[in-house]
Amino acid sequence: MSRALVVGNWKMNLDHVEAVHLTQQLGVILASRPAPHVDVVVAPPFVDLRSVGSVLEADRSAIELAAQHANPLPSGAHTGEVSVPMLARLRVRWVIVGHSERRALYAMSDDVVAATARAVVAGGLRAIVCVGEDEAVREAGRHREHVRAQVLAALEGLSAPEGDVVVAYEPVWAIGTGRSAGVEEVREMAHVIAEALATTRVTGARVLYGGSVNADNAADLLGGGVDGFLVGGASLRAESFGAIVSAGESCYAGGR
Ligand code: PEP
Repeated sequence: MSRALVVGNWKMNLDHVEAVHLTQQLGVILASRPAPHVDVVVAPPFVDLRSVGSVLEADRSAIELAAQHANPLPSGAHTGEVSVPMLARLRVRWVIVGHSERRALYAMSDDVVAATARAVVAGGLRAIVCVGEDEAVREAGRHREHVRAQVLAALEGLSAPEGDVVVAYEPVWAIGTGRSAGVEEVREMAHVIAEALATTRVTGARVLYGGSVNADNAADLLGGGVDGFLVGGASLRAESFGAIVSAGESCYAGGR
């Protein structure tokens, strides 16, 4: 049975007290509106992982924990970085790899994205690999080849257990802008990604959409054939994130 996946990327927001509060609120909402056909994941800042993980464990919550980034090396002289084994010790199950903000602001290259994805999978965690074109690439009509190349570069040399890799299509022009991609744009790029995936050794990868997803557009966007969402801004409020999870549940409950 296929399942939706909804991931909340909290970015550099919420200290550990605020993060605990949001986690508790989310627990209440998901208890009142269960979503048994949706895998729900939250990606707090590193410093919140332990506190959020403790709340989830105490509540026996089905919500899983993701990190927003990891260094591909297991340990060493890399000031400010965090490794996959460190995350695994905190019961982190997922890692977001190559988010466009890491690529643009911290010079994360395709090679480092690929090395990170390999380290995540080798460490027994699941990788959410982000791809997506910026506005200039789309205006030049090169978005299909750009995203295809990003997928192939990120998954170079990777073979992973079924389902341990997820690809998130996140057009940069849609992130944090309030201007989501249209359903047909999402459908086209989900198709491009599926075709690219078919040429790799990665099987069973779910494809997500991310970019200004909110409670009002989530149900429509699922019509673009994606398996769920990577959500930024709307994941910072329990009510809106819960509504996006509910949209996934409505879509998948009848068997997609
Ligand atoms: C993101 O940064 O992954 C994202 C999708 O952000 P937003 O939902 O705020 O556009």
